[in-house]
Amino acid sequence: MGKVLKVAARDQCIGCLSCMYSCSRTWHEALTTSKSAIRIRTYMGTEGAFSIRACRACTNPGCVAACPTGALTQRSNGALKLDAEKCTSCGDCVKACLIQALQWDDETKLPLPCSHCGVCVRYCPNEVLVMGERKEESRVEANS
Ligand code: SF4
Ligand code: SF4
Repeated sequence: MGKVLKVAARDQCIGCLSCMYSCSRTWHEALTTSKSAIRIRTYMGTEGAFSIRACRACTNPGCVAACPTGALTQRSNGALKLDAEKCTSCGDCVKACLIQALQWDDETKLPLPCSHCGVCVRYCPNEVLVMGERKEESRVEANS
């Protein structure tokens, strides 16, 4: 089992968005946060509290199962992969992720699957994110 992205210290997030900028820049050469596969938001308007949406590299992921065209697949190490040529922009994959970890690119109308490359981990100044061992059985539940 390879290593995958994990949120290790949610409470230590300061909302700097370095992770989002690094992801957008690395994968889309964009100086923006809008093309990031990880998403940080203010938590229900609470100052200083942030929600972190990060892909958990599920085993048998719902997002992949929901894709009607085979555009979204998963590598053996848990990384998600998109074949943009096959994608019809239906959005079923995003809806199928129960923890809302799969982001959507409003510009291209394509999902932003996490490749679990770890660039966001390297740019986080507060050790909120880590690369950790992928569990044998990893699946998100509706209330997780
Ligand atoms: S269902 Fe969500 S958490 Fe699981 S692999 Fe897909 S995007 Fe990641
Ligand atoms: S938006 Fe694209 S990748 Fe997602 S389910 Fe639809 S066809 Fe598949």
